[in-house]
Order: sequence, then structure tokens, then C-alpha cells
Amino acid sequence: MRQKLQLKGDISLSQSAIQRRNSNQRQKSPIQGRRLFQSHVIQTPLSQQYGQTQQQLQQSQQQQFIQGRSHSQSNVVFNEEVPQKWPIIQLPFLKNTEPTIFFQYPPVCEDKRPLVNARPMTEEEIKKYQLTCKVLGSAPYKCVLTSFDWAGFKRIDEDDEDEDWNVQWGIGNKTTLRNMNRYQKINHFPGCWNMGRKDLLWINLSKFKRKYPKEYNFIPNTYLLQYDYDRFIMAQESAQKDTLWIKKPCADSRGRGITMVSKKSKVKKDKNFLIMDYIYNPHLINGLKYDLRVYVLISCFDPLRVYMYKDGLVRFATQKYSTNSKDLTKRYIHLTNFAVNKLSPNFVKNQNTQKDDEGSKWSHHAYRKKLDELGIDSRELFNRIKDVVLKTCIATEPFMLDSNAKSQEHRNGYFELYGFDVLIDENLKPWVLEVNVSPSLNSSSPLDKKIKTSLISDVLHLVGVPLWDKNNQKISSPPKYNQRNIKEIPNINTSNCLNKLSQNDFNMLIHTVEEVKRRGKNFSCVFPNPKTIHQYMDLFEFPRYNNKLIERFYQDRCNWLSRFN
Ligand code: ADP
Repeated sequence: MRQKLQLKGDISLSQSAIQRRNSNQRQKSPIQGRRLFQSHVIQTPLSQQYGQTQQQLQQSQQQQFIQGRSHSQSNVVFNEEVPQKWPIIQLPFLKNTEPTIFFQYPPVCEDKRPLVNARPMTEEEIKKYQLTCKVLGSAPYKCVLTSFDWAGFKRIDEDDEDEDWNVQWGIGNKTTLRNMNRYQKINHFPGCWNMGRKDLLWINLSKFKRKYPKEYNFIPNTYLLQYDYDRFIMAQESAQKDTLWIKKPCADSRGRGITMVSKKSKVKKDKNFLIMDYIYNPHLINGLKYDLRVYVLISCFDPLRVYMYKDGLVRFATQKYSTNSKDLTKRYIHLTNFAVNKLSPNFVKNQNTQKDDEGSKWSHHAYRKKLDELGIDSRELFNRIKDVVLKTCIATEPFMLDSNAKSQEHRNGYFELYGFDVLIDENLKPWVLEVNVSPSLNSSSPLDKKIKTSLISDVLHLVGVPLWDKNNQKISSPPKYNQRNIKEIPNINTSNCLNKLSQNDFNMLIHTVEEVKRRGKNFSCVFPNPKTIHQYMDLFEFPRYNNKLIERFYQDRCNWLSRFN
């Protein structure tokens, strides 16, 4: 099959030269048991592939420096037959940093990740790097397994203590965390429950709510029955007669154990439950209550790096909304959980990815379209959602860093995909109801499957799994973090950054920039975002050196990295 090659940037190649080169490089794959990409394996170094000598490549890179356009390698786009299940290397965009593994979209995603600055591994590289993942649990999510499979990863046994893994999907125990090295990644932070348990989330957010009542008024007022029982009873007694609350278990999910509470309800003191003010005026579509499942990726807490996924799910209740007292026990009216509503006779299953505004679960894409039809500015609404998501992350940051204190060297070793449940009220104000540590990645429909598989592939591509020669690569000792003077940061600029910044500082900045470049079209960077970073800095409980340094770096127009060689 002939390869179509399109090159962007300052390198150009005639069509005939491309064809000549392709026919020279076509090879058969000797790796058995894998279905290979149908075209060929490219084994030559990148520069030679484009008909450039090393010297020419260096010259063109220098040119880019001089012109101040970018300090990246040339952005080369391969618009070719996508290799199937063959490991691909994502080359870094900046100098002085490491390549990572490229995650191809599996076919269910109905999409192709562009091969920009990426090249297939050679067979020697495949043997050398042996990509492996450990996916914990007896019934792992299909979308996780498929994403690894399509990136060329082999799954190793959960109990296999001898074989090294590149990525672990599942909470790490103490021994795993102790033995982790800088090439490995785990999809949970130690202490991830600070956000993921309803009671801990409230404890963390209420502290900020007291300090910044206006900024933190997006979580409904909550009573932990263990501590706030008397306060709740007083509130119930003095409330107006139609006031409603909702009672939930502190650490359960899927609508289990949830009941509505009215002024007349008898509430017992139970340390496993909390009571929350009920948002009685939700925004409705077709008369139905709904909430949004928003996927949020945190790739690091120091510096804080938060991304929000552009798609997600809208989960509808299945009976028309009413606050009538005789309807209070009707879960299909008040709860929007899929686990609850799938049992309703009114539940409509989505059958087709192209019709994402049908049935009881929509995509965000379809939802935004609907809002626009209703004359609602969906962009503005989603900006508000980003704002409450980020404020939630900022409020939990001190607790997360406490839990991570002993693992500073693995700053980039963890990532977490959180599922935020957001309710929109009739005034289009988003409310954070809860944050799920392990949002369900089960797929009950083609639409679910498409969104969730794209999501996982995007998460793994963004966080960047480094190459690791497990047999030969010496694990270097963790970097030493010297005393750093936060007060010095405002004085750093392009001319003095080489003297003022340490190797670690540069690494951290490069990592941040590289990650943003890998986010693709589906993730938007919520923090640190050059446009908004400044407005959030004062909310952090403690000013952090790394966050401040990034803020200064953006302020100074990011020219520092071109000085660093
Ligand atoms: P679970 O972890 O069991 O899913 P949630 O906190 O997400 O618990 O609540 C389940 C559902 O109940 C939500 O999806 C939403 O429809 C409804 N709900 C929860 N809290 C509130 C609230 N404060 N006001 C209105 N509806 C709520």
C-alpha cells in the first residue's frame, strides 16, 4: 500500500522522492502473532527519513532558534496508513528531554491520532524496551486493555513480582510504591481519596469555603452526621416547610443508600452518612433532571497540572422532574445515576455513536449543541465548570501533597483520572456533587465505548510513558531538591535564567510544556494555563515554588527554554 506523506514545517519532499524512499524501506515484519501495519517499518533515523543529513537538520534547528519561532524539532506529520498494534515512539518537541510512547486510538474510537513527531519503533527497540502493563482486578475495563494493546503493550500477571512494568492501572500497595522508579507510572496518587470520598471532599472544600465564601459556593452545604448531627437537627427545625436535603453514604457510589430528606423526616446519627442541601431547581432538558460526568486528569500536584476532557457523558433521570412531596421517594425522578435509571421502564439505551443525543445518556458534544439551540452559551457554561473543577483541585492540593511528601522523587510517576459529577441548576450555575476516584469505565453502549476508549488512550498519551531499557538502564538516584528561594522568582528573566535556574527547574518546565503539547485535541489544559494562571494563584493555601516558577515563565513569554541546551 502506498504511503501518503504530508510534511509540515520547513522540510519539504517531492512526491517522487517520497515514493522512492517508501519502496526502499518496505519490509516484512518478523514479529509473529502481531498484526502489523500494512505499509512498512521505518528504521532509519528521523533526519535520513526526510532526505536530510544530520548537518542539515542541525542547521534547520538552529534556524528555528535564531528566528525565535520554536525550539522544537520540526513538526513532521505522517499522514500514512496507521500501523496496527505496533509500538510507536512519540519524539519530544523540545530539546533535552525524553521520548514517550505513542498511544494509537483503537478502531472503536473512529479516529486517528496524528503521527506528529512520532515514528514506529525498530524491532531492536521493541525487544529492548518491552512495553508492559499491569492491570489490576479480576474484571478490568475493556477500554483500558484495548488502549494498552493498541499501543503495543503486553499485559503481565497481577501477581508477577519479577517482571518490571511500565504502567500499573490500579492502586499501588506500599511495597509497589516503595519500589517504584522514575520510568514507571501508576494511575492513582497516594491519598487520592482526599477528593474521592464525599466526606473528605467536604472537609477539604469547606475549609476553603470559610476562607473564600464567594469563590467556593459551588458545593452544596453539607452535614457530616458524625460531627454535625446537632447542627443539622437545628437547621431542619428552623427550615421552611418545603426545604429538602439528600442523605448519602460517605463512601459509596451508584446511588446506593441515597434517600431524600424533608422537614418531617426523622434522621438518626450515623457516622457513615452525610446530608447535603438538595439542589431543588436543576436545569431540565425535556422536563428531565440530568447531571454531567466530567473527566478530569491530574498529572501532577507539584506543580499542579489539571486537564479537562472535552467530551463526557450527560446522564438523565427517566421520570419527569417534580419536587412534589408524594414524589420524594421516586429515585427515577431525583437521581441521575445510570446504575439507578437503567432499571427504569423509561430508560432508553443509545444504539449508535452518530446519534449521541438520543436515549438516557448523551455526549457532552450533543448536550452543547442542545444548549446552543436553546440559546444558552455552552462555552460560557463549560468555562464555569472548568473554574469549579480547578478550585476543587486547589482545595485538595495541600492534603494531596501531604500524602505525597515521601515520594517527591516520583512527582511525575502518578496520574489520576477523576470523574466529577456536576449538576447544573436553572440559573446555569454548576454544582460539584461529588468526585469519583475510579469513574466507571464500563461501556453499556457504542457511544460509551467510543468516549471511554478515546479517553483512556488520550490519558496515557498525555501523561507520557517514558522508554525504559529494563535490562540495561541504571535507575538513577532520585533528584536532590535544594533549598529554593521563592522570593527570587520575580527577578528571573530570559537573560539571567541560565544562572538562576537549576537543572530540576528546567526539567520541570520542559515536562510541563511537553505534556501540554501531547494533550491532543480532546483535553484542554485547565492549569497551568497561560491565560488564566494568574487569577488562581492567590487561592492556593501555600504559594509553591514550582507553580510560581511556571507563572513567571509564562509571564516572561516562555523564552527561557531556548537558552537551555
Ligand atoms: P453516588 O456516588 O451514589 O453516585 P452522588 O453524590 O453522585 O452519589 O449522587 C447521586 C445522584 O443524586 C446524583 O447524580 C444527582 O442526580 C443526585 N444528587 C446528589 N446530590 C444532590 C444534591 N445535592 N442536589 C440534587 N441532586 C443531588
